[in-house]
Amino acid sequence: AGHLYVVATPIGNLGDLTPRAQDVLEGVAAICAEDTRTTANLLTRFGIHKALIAVHEHNEDEICARLVERLRGGDALALVSDAGTPLVSDPGFALVRAARAANVPVVTIPGPCAAIAALSISGLPSDRFVFEGFLPSRTSARRERLTALAPESRTLILYESSHRIADCVADIVTVLGAERPLCLARELTKLYEESHSASAAEVAAWLQADDNRRRGEFVLIVGGAPDAVDQRQAEGERILRILLGSLP
Ligand code: SAM
Repeated sequence: AGHLYVVATPIGNLGDLTPRAQDVLEGVAAICAEDTRTTANLLTRFGIHKALIAVHEHNEDEICARLVERLRGGDALALVSDAGTPLVSDPGFALVRAARAANVPVVTIPGPCAAIAALSISGLPSDRFVFEGFLPSRTSARRERLTALAPESRTLILYESSHRIADCVADIVTVLGAERPLCLARELTKLYEESHSASAAEVAAWLQADDNRRRGEFVLIVGGAPDAVDQRQAEGERILRILLGSLP
């Protein structure tokens, strides 16, 4: 059988397309792409000419069987999304699952992923983390989701668009508290890349202070809730200090 290559592409800076990704994209029979125009632009920049097949959330389920047939027939295919790593808040899950079910080898060509890129520069605990992707777009549903996530002690990774970033951070202040540590990373690897880490309330104010700060693409890294055990211990120590202070 041919191989299915799951290929990461840049999240902004084209210099991040790896040499191995270029070789694989050159070598496959066809490239499955989320948006064929976006991928055509990328390929043109690298002088790669290749047949493109649109595979997106609306047709993925139907087109899978045909693609797996091609793979079983010996064609190598690549799967890319518009930016970053396929399947991470992007299409590809149905195809990868179908390929595996048909015993087609699935091979990663790793590279950029906005979530991991932001986490690695956030300064928040990165030994354990939870990827939540996009929160619901409606305020009530978003607050409900945040309420469910409030006790989570691991670092949270969220994706957000420019339309909602201010509302999303405002909801974090409301639901998770003004003091919750955040790192907001925007436009990673691009011209206006910046990242700002502070308390939730400070990040909310930072976003309000300049319209430009609400433009572009965002990853929000949210510090986890203090552990229940840690909290009890801290409270115990606080009481002990008060008692010690009252000793003669
Ligand atoms: N598959 C992609 C990945 O591996 O990161 C994510 C695709 S998801 C549809 C797009 C979201 O990823 C954006 O709304 C934003 O939250 C985040 N993102 C993508 N590129 C980014 C960048 N350069 N800087 C910050 N966030 C980015």
